[in-house]
Amino acid sequence: MKNKVRVRFAPSPTGPLHIGGVRTALYNYLFARQNGGTMILRIEDTDSNRFVPGAEDYINEALAWLGIGIDEGVKEGGNYGPYKQSERRDIYRRYVKQLLDDGKAYIAFDTPEELDAKRKEIANFQYDAKTRGMMRNSLTMSKEEVDKLIADGEKYVVRILIEPGREVKVNDLIRGEVTVNSSVVDDKVLYKSADDLPTYHLANIVDDHLMEVSHVIRGEEWLPSAPLHVLLYEALGWKDSMPQFVHLPLLLKPDGKGKLSKRDGDRLGFPVFPLEWHDPVSGEMSSGYRERGYLPQAVVNFLALLGWNPGTDREIFSMDDLIREFSFDHCSKKGAKFDFEKGKWFNHEYLINMDDAELAKLFKPLLAQHGVDASQFTDDYITRAVGMIKSRISFVGDIWENAKFFFQAPTDYAPKDIKKRWKEDTPATMHRLIEVIKGIDDMTSAHAEEVVLGWIKDNELHMGNVMNAFRLTVVGECKGPHMFDIAELMGKDEIIARIERGIENIKPVTE
Ligand code: GLU
Repeated sequence: MKNKVRVRFAPSPTGPLHIGGVRTALYNYLFARQNGGTMILRIEDTDSNRFVPGAEDYINEALAWLGIGIDEGVKEGGNYGPYKQSERRDIYRRYVKQLLDDGKAYIAFDTPEELDAKRKEIANFQYDAKTRGMMRNSLTMSKEEVDKLIADGEKYVVRILIEPGREVKVNDLIRGEVTVNSSVVDDKVLYKSADDLPTYHLANIVDDHLMEVSHVIRGEEWLPSAPLHVLLYEALGWKDSMPQFVHLPLLLKPDGKGKLSKRDGDRLGFPVFPLEWHDPVSGEMSSGYRERGYLPQAVVNFLALLGWNPGTDREIFSMDDLIREFSFDHCSKKGAKFDFEKGKWFNHEYLINMDDAELAKLFKPLLAQHGVDASQFTDDYITRAVGMIKSRISFVGDIWENAKFFFQAPTDYAPKDIKKRWKEDTPATMHRLIEVIKGIDDMTSAHAEEVVLGWIKDNELHMGNVMNAFRLTVVGECKGPHMFDIAELMGKDEIIARIERGIENIKPVTE
């Protein structure tokens, strides 16, 4: 094994990065940082048919938002570039030639129609030692014939020549040693003359080798390709410097039945993408964690625990904690159920532990969205308002619903609260309350509370009715933070104005 840790996240820009891909990126990053290694971002864009404009920018933006830092990549540069596979054609061509010259691969001319016909003729057809002799390839044709077809511009592919009946060992850090018989591996296509591009398999192996990747950390869906990859390393003469494989457990649907898909997100109403994505072709929009009001730290924490556990009950981990604690020893082989409610819980935890001023910064743009001119309020006012309601929220977006009364006097009053708390004699009591409040010099919460509650007691008024009516005029409903904390922040004039407006606008409900 190589002694320097170099890992790569190697997405294909075929659409928005799925949350499972984000977790792969995260584990690569944690492992790199933990070992003082290098994190590479390689864009695997050899499948030109599936290329989607905007997907590469999306990947960069998503990783940056989550704080998954890249050391070498298209944007970052590095000594092993280019980091985009479509810019490495010359390199791949060299290795295609090497494999052909060494008799480890061969040229095949079979058209899609011919392959289909064979599939119909032979059950479970696989292009391999048993069938390659029946096909149109450089093993069954003369060199002259092959050269002539190529000269005539006939399209061809290059296939790896798999020797049957051999034990192929795949060593995986999570799964241990997995042995597969080479007879089940087919002669996969490595290169297509049609677009002069290698397939994923060849490009991936060549790049991992040339970029001196020490650990291939990727999703479990790639495990079936691993025996082929081992054979390909061997065919290229690189077996001794093969990277260590690490196949991460699948992310499963919330009920545990099958792999988490984009459709589950739509069906169950949670995002499966880090950022919102607007499909450039269909115009379809897929929601993202960022736009839903998730904090990147919460998403990182949540994802880290989908497949890894610290071996204790601890659940809250910052990125630095994760870098310290993460280990493949504690990664499960079993798929991890995607528990969206847990994701929400993480967000709530991060929000309530966040510095009020930070949270206020995130909230400020929402004020403008709701037609409030934020410049009317000091940062201190916004910060204190947010601090008072944050225990009630799971998302930044929830702040508005809970805190709007700090920024707008209520125009509607909750009917059920009116019914319960606003009686015929309430306006008279509220007029008296205004006089009491006018007389308070020091509106700090504890002092105002002492004065008002003292007045209620001395006059033998009904504590619940008076306080709730008071709250109804200020907040618009009978819930929210401590009434005297609200009063301290809003100040005497605003409180009095709101009680007056309440007296004018709230009408008792008569049945
Ligand atoms: N390009 C592959 C993907 O999109 C990379 C798989 C690997 O990491 O080897 O997931």
